[in-house]
Amino acid sequence: LACLFPILTATSQNTTIKSSIENVEKKVDSIVSIMTLEEKVGQMVQYSGTWDLTGPASGNQNQYREEQLKKGLVGSMLNVLSVEATREAQKLVMENSRIKIPLMFGYDVIHGYKTIFPVPLGETASWDLEAMKETARISALEAAADGVNWTFAPMIDISRDARWGRIMEGSGEDPFLTSRVAEAKIRGYQGDDLSNPATIAATAKHFAGYGFAEAGRDYNTVHVGENELHNTILPPFKAAAAAGVATFMNSFNDLDGTPATGSKMLQRDILKEDWDWDGFIVSDWGSIAEMINHGFAEDLTHAAEIAVKAGSDMDMEGGAYETGLVQLVNSGKVDEALIDDAVKRILWVKFKLGLFEDPYRYSNSQMAEQLNLKEHRAVARDVAKKSIVLLKNDKNLLPIASSVKNIAVIGPLADDKDTPIGNWRAQGEANSAVSILEGLKSAVGNNVKITYAKGADLGMGERTFLKPLKINTTDKSGFKAAIDAAKKADLVILALGEDAFQSGEGRSQVNIGLAGLQQELMHEIYKVNKNVVLVLQNGRPLEISWAAENIPAIVVAWQLGTESGNAIADVLFGRYNPSAKLPVSFPRAVGQEPLYYNQKNTGRPSNPSDVTYSAYTDEEKTALYPFGYGLSYTTFEYGDLTLSSEEMNPQESLTVTVSVTNTGKKAGKEVVQLYLRDMVASTTRPVKELKGFELVELQPGETKQVSFTISNELLKFYNANKEWASEPGEFQVMIGGNSIDLKTESFRLN
Ligand code: BGC
Repeated sequence: LACLFPILTATSQNTTIKSSIENVEKKVDSIVSIMTLEEKVGQMVQYSGTWDLTGPASGNQNQYREEQLKKGLVGSMLNVLSVEATREAQKLVMENSRIKIPLMFGYDVIHGYKTIFPVPLGETASWDLEAMKETARISALEAAADGVNWTFAPMIDISRDARWGRIMEGSGEDPFLTSRVAEAKIRGYQGDDLSNPATIAATAKHFAGYGFAEAGRDYNTVHVGENELHNTILPPFKAAAAAGVATFMNSFNDLDGTPATGSKMLQRDILKEDWDWDGFIVSDWGSIAEMINHGFAEDLTHAAEIAVKAGSDMDMEGGAYETGLVQLVNSGKVDEALIDDAVKRILWVKFKLGLFEDPYRYSNSQMAEQLNLKEHRAVARDVAKKSIVLLKNDKNLLPIASSVKNIAVIGPLADDKDTPIGNWRAQGEANSAVSILEGLKSAVGNNVKITYAKGADLGMGERTFLKPLKINTTDKSGFKAAIDAAKKADLVILALGEDAFQSGEGRSQVNIGLAGLQQELMHEIYKVNKNVVLVLQNGRPLEISWAAENIPAIVVAWQLGTESGNAIADVLFGRYNPSAKLPVSFPRAVGQEPLYYNQKNTGRPSNPSDVTYSAYTDEEKTALYPFGYGLSYTTFEYGDLTLSSEEMNPQESLTVTVSVTNTGKKAGKEVVQLYLRDMVASTTRPVKELKGFELVELQPGETKQVSFTISNELLKFYNANKEWASEPGEFQVMIGGNSIDLKTESFRLN
């Protein structure tokens, strides 16, 4: 129970809490003791509510499901989307079933519910944990007001492959940063007390390895060894478990020969045993049944047997548990104790949510009326501007000078009110974002002339979550107007990138450049006007080598949500001095993927001029823009590092200090980053790993001392003895404003 009630570990005044936990345990036990096997298995079944529960049930399937709800043979529903619909479904259970165990209502609340915040990859670029916690808190509030009490977020899959469409949904390539984001998100969604109706249960997903899909193709096989699994993929999940996340979701992929959904090693041994975590694991959509396609299970019953033994507690819309579990227990193939354990875990979370006290608590509350959407929009704007990364700013084109009187706003995404809403948009309305054009216009008023020309459409026809975009590669009819507008302008804002539905689930791509006619449009515009600011909207790192070489100013604006255009205008006009840093490497060419900063050395010489150097013959091996990179309108200078000691014993810690000076003319914020390297160890270690960061605000000319504590904990890794431990020897400590330009020192661990 320690991780669900972290406070418990803190002794003294907690006797009441302890006794209430004991009470809950007793209640859970007594409920389970009177449940039939069918009722217990029912708790492990989750239905999708994509049918309209408030309307007349139509078709046999709906009829059947309604009956199951009435019999109390369903534990949870997902995608039931309104207070009325959740209330209807809950009523079926509470007014008809024997034991009356309330349903939990789950939904993908990924980056906002009605008010949409930046996609997770973009928001992570802010490195602002307080802001990320706040957007989760608001998302929870809005979702709870609609009857949702459980989000399938945060997604904390490490991903280093820009081809993978779901890279937009996570926090990028680094385990340390992703772990901190995971904690912030969980605290935001769950608050301090899940029984508070303004909070919702969170989910750490997808457990595990999903982001390592081979060749970046979604759902594909994952081959990672134990070392990489423990050192790179699992740390954010461990952090999530320790932060008390209520649920985990397993994943679709095969991990080194075993589908994650059927992996006892992951679910029982690591998560439930080693990490002593007490929540429950929901499968991914149909992932139990998918083990048949994997060639790992013969049929639904066999899949159910594998999954329940492995530790999957709830079957999302798969029908496997519903089909097979009762029979498996009756025939003696599955021990009923496994079912009891799963049900207890599920009931435990329902108790924590306060559902037994008031199954309708969210829907009964007046929360919807109390929502201050205006306030939420202000937060959306604030976090959006903090998420914008300035990649390049030659000729000081930015911030836009007051002498600029005539701006051409060009590109398929310039007046797009939908793309900023991004994929996984929950109840964010289509076309509801502030477009770049709108944002710029309202920023300049009548002082500046703004001419808009689309240039070309990015896509053609309809596109949705389920239907990918058909890219326009032929219609250049808008080029001429765009070129004319560019010719007459002092400055061009060129809005290119990706459509909202180009990234997300099932949206893997082999090309990650500017799709369709965008590259050609950029060339044509640049021919007639060199003062171009390229504003990218994207859910993944893009291949932008030509732009990086030619276009003087480049800004990464991801998919920033409801307030996108206003936030972009804030940055372009200098009302906000950009402070974001990339959470993922931008490649020079797609062939470099997977690309990440925390690589290992090869055994080859480190001199790039040596022919046997590990490299490519046709392209540099480094990132075009590395992890942690991002410019500001001011400049920062780092002093040398000072260590409190040159050696440390494992039970001690040491402090490393650096001075950071704002050497420019504007106030600004810098993300100071700490990296460590274990020089020699029992397994090979990355050349550097992020181990700390701090956001520091500095006035022009101001210097601050920034200190990090290096504890033994930070030096630990999964070593050759299969232990999470540190090993004595030399460590390098590096600090800087990105993962490349770093000041270095070293110390010894005794
Ligand atoms: C996704 C999950 C999501 C679930 C429910 C699946 O396809 O992989 O991340 O939570 O659907 O919508």
